[in-house]
Amino acid sequence: MVIAIKDVICIKGKMVTCGSRILEHFESPYDATVIQRLNRADGIIIGQTNMDEFAMGSSTENCAYGVVLNPIDETRVPGGSSGGSAVAVAAGMAWTALGSDTGGSIRQPAAFCGIVGLKPTYGRVSRYGLVAFASSFDQIGPFGGCVSDVARVLKVIAGHDPCDSTSAQVPVPDYVKSLTGDVSGLRIGLPKEYYTEALDREINDAIMKKVDVLRLHGAIVKEVSLPYTEYTIAAYYILTTAEASSNLARYDGARYGRRAKGAKDVIELYTRSRSEGFGDEVKRRIMLGTYVLSAGYYEAYYRKGQKVRRLIKEDFDKAFQDVDCLITPTSPTTAFKIGEKVDDPLTMYLSDIYTVSANLAGIPGISIPCGKDHQGLPIGLQILGKQFDEETILRVADFLESDER
Ligand code: GLN
Repeated sequence: MVIAIKDVICIKGKMVTCGSRILEHFESPYDATVIQRLNRADGIIIGQTNMDEFAMGSSTENCAYGVVLNPIDETRVPGGSSGGSAVAVAAGMAWTALGSDTGGSIRQPAAFCGIVGLKPTYGRVSRYGLVAFASSFDQIGPFGGCVSDVARVLKVIAGHDPCDSTSAQVPVPDYVKSLTGDVSGLRIGLPKEYYTEALDREINDAIMKKVDVLRLHGAIVKEVSLPYTEYTIAAYYILTTAEASSNLARYDGARYGRRAKGAKDVIELYTRSRSEGFGDEVKRRIMLGTYVLSAGYYEAYYRKGQKVRRLIKEDFDKAFQDVDCLITPTSPTTAFKIGEKVDDPLTMYLSDIYTVSANLAGIPGISIPCGKDHQGLPIGLQILGKQFDEETILRVADFLESDER
């Protein structure tokens, strides 16, 4: 299998830039665990793909090396942050690709480019060698042109790794075997907070059509409630910026990548290396994260964010007592125009509304193609599952895919 790798995953002897000037000439001294596993399985790693700087963004516009174009309409973004990996697969440059997903960065670009993208359960895939954005949210996952390709790659990269203490000691099933084509008796939940007036009509209708197909084949469809949905974006951006500000402290001009020239003392070296090396969005998040972690505001923001995260997780635990998986839109819109949201960070953040909850709760999610809108742009359907139950969401995804064909 010819595989492309997001430029945030370490490959020995290759430059790993994370879309940032600060790592412009950084060469990785080792292979990430996922790379070792792909190599062992005879995967052919063909190249590295462009992304939003340090995986912060939803469009690849926050990249120091330029924006990725959506192959379906080159005036539009491919989604982000793993936009390059999605395009590599959508444009036929690679068979599959790896991305990373902290709040939707695999699922949303998969939706915008009309392909399949899976974010595994937190802990399912080793993060050893994945450059950290928000360590308690980040997870590596595959893109593919079809569900079975994604299932095959997951089988290779998943499983416990002694080099990542957060990787789980949970057996890895044969995901391809779980694609049985049978959905009868399966209980499927539709979270009512996700299907509001704010959701684009065409997206809503496209998803409901698929839900009808499931019903027709014996699935039991129920409405469920995730009452804390309205706090997901706020909790996500407080907690991930906090973690990012801490993770990105290591880029000081002394140890990695870019070093400012002619600095007179160490403080100037740090300040200038970071000011020159990081882009605007990364700086914005470091400032936000530093603020929410500061002594005076820690209780009001960071601690509260942690509590809300727990409540969001409990929403899902409750929902999964009644259903086996949830079906939602992947994104509130189809691919937007390059430049449309880049000057308005808050609008950009709101485009993650349907994806961030899976990372807050640590559950798996997959986005699959679900028809097109009136402009011919792909619509994404998201399936969310219980922790470590990638099998069910892959099964439903595969079933719906055969219906799409
Ligand atoms: N768009 C989200 C953000 O900007 C998600 C990014 C991601 O999943 N890496 O944080």
